[in-house]
Amino acid sequence: MNADAVIIGAGLSGLVDAILLAETGRRIIVIEQHAIPGGYLQQFRRGRTVFDVGFHYMGSTLPGRPMRQFLEHLQVWPRLRILPFPEDAAIEVISGPNRFAYPARFDRFHEKALAAWPGERAAIDRFVADVDGICSRFKWFALRRGVEYGSPLDLQWPGGSFADYIEGATEDAWLREALSLQTFNLGLLPSEAPWVKHALAFRSNFDRTSRIDGGGGALVKALLERGRELGVEYRFRSEVVGIACEGRMARAVTTANGERIDADLFVAACHPKVAVRCIPEESLPAIFRERILAMKDSRGAFQLFLALSAPLSSIGSTCVMIRGEEEAGDWPPLDVILVTYPCGEEKTPRGGPRLEAMAYMDWDIFASWGDRPSGRRGEDYERLKQEIARRMIARMRRIIPELPDAIAEAYTATPLTDAWYTRNEHGAVFGVSHDVEQQGTARPQPRMRLKNLYFTGHSITMPGICGVFINAFDTCEMIRGGDDLFRAVAT
Ligand SMILES: Cc1cc2nc3c(=O)[nH]c(=O)nc-3n(C[C@H](O)[C@H](O)[C@H](O)COP(=O)(O)OP(=O)(O)OC[C@H]3O[C@@H](n4cnc5c(N)ncnc54)[C@H](O)[C@@H]3O)c2cc1C
Repeated sequence: MNADAVIIGAGLSGLVDAILLAETGRRIIVIEQHAIPGGYLQQFRRGRTVFDVGFHYMGSTLPGRPMRQFLEHLQVWPRLRILPFPEDAAIEVISGPNRFAYPARFDRFHEKALAAWPGERAAIDRFVADVDGICSRFKWFALRRGVEYGSPLDLQWPGGSFADYIEGATEDAWLREALSLQTFNLGLLPSEAPWVKHALAFRSNFDRTSRIDGGGGALVKALLERGRELGVEYRFRSEVVGIACEGRMARAVTTANGERIDADLFVAACHPKVAVRCIPEESLPAIFRERILAMKDSRGAFQLFLALSAPLSSIGSTCVMIRGEEEAGDWPPLDVILVTYPCGEEKTPRGGPRLEAMAYMDWDIFASWGDRPSGRRGEDYERLKQEIARRMIARMRRIIPELPDAIAEAYTATPLTDAWYTRNEHGAVFGVSHDVEQQGTARPQPRMRLKNLYFTGHSITMPGICGVFINAFDTCEMIRGGDDLFRAVAT
């Protein structure tokens, strides 16, 4: 079997890469180990209810902003029904008695923050200007034709963590906390989050924060549909277990089903450690292999999926981040919970009302069950999951008092679940950790030691949905050569 290019993984990244490479007339085969596409954007059904795994919200859907430009270019935008969050309360952050509702647009955020913290004008003005300054220097975010940009891979300027930045900017504890809670978008604490990356991720959630009717599954469906129009072939239940090489060139992938697919070009849209393990030892310098395999992965997630017997009245169609006080002896720690209640105009996925909640949680907490298959991890594992779910519900109850009585069914997932379904090492929500220690050349790059094998996906430059699109466009522009792709999406 031959193809011009083989893409490993049909997660969001693999689906976008496939379209961008098929646009050039190449014959593309996408190989996915799971039975369904989507990676973290997959959905699952329990009874009548369909739940989303890794899709809560996305921003930048206004004309000229990155998600909109990328989706338009891919001819996927018209296939989606975008559901913007309420203009004035897109994402709410709550800590003890304090609440701040982030609006859907960045200019409105500036005004609202000044109204909420009137004594902090200088800090807020500077924060907004600094975020804008950073975003205007990042090629795939600014998307301006005729501007000279540095390499997107050089995300060091200015260095330091968000905690370093914000501690020097204001002494107002609640303003610091409200801004710092947003490092949740990188799965990092403020002391771990690179200021530059945080600024980009923070800003990307504005400019019309939205959900998609049908959730992450609708985006996956639209990307698959477009890929198929361009002749992309998708193979499911087919796990890449080897990459055959000759010198510094990859020649073929081999699958667990015993198939071999030869190609001129390979794109690893899976976790980079998975790809590196597939490459024979003699084809990669030991130092490179060890460096990739030793990289720290981002945190995993504990997720609670609730099918509800009745709609909720004290929460609208927004996302809410809740920081709570822990009681003595509470373990494992639950720092922030992200709550999503798809309602209002969101008609699909079909089923009754539902609520999804997540908290970051280290792999180590569940590691002792890691070698046992799903469903056979024993009573201790089930008890721990139930206990974490109970604490999450207790915390949400303070904001949504009617929630406990409305729960019809509850399902949970741990980092073990995510690792099993997506092969992300340690169930890492954002692949290789994006913390301050692993920036610039210390993280996986699209180009690696094999000349015709490229890395892409959420472990590369930027994490999250918008980040995956940025990385896919960047990697595919390197492959396609020139700057046609940038000029096609820039304004
Ligand atoms: C709980 C959770 C909530 C999230 N919420 C949001 C959100 O609200 N907004 C946002 O912007 N981002 C969110 N994210 C992040 C976002 O979902 C991911 O960053 C993004 O979907 C990653 O896409 P990817 O294609 O890079 O990787 P993946 O989704 O991991 O895709 C990789 C694919 O490769 C396949 N694969 C792996 N190994 C092999 C192999 N050997 N052979 C064949 N196939 C293989 C996997 O099965 C998978 O399909 C969330 C993530 C999680 C886990």
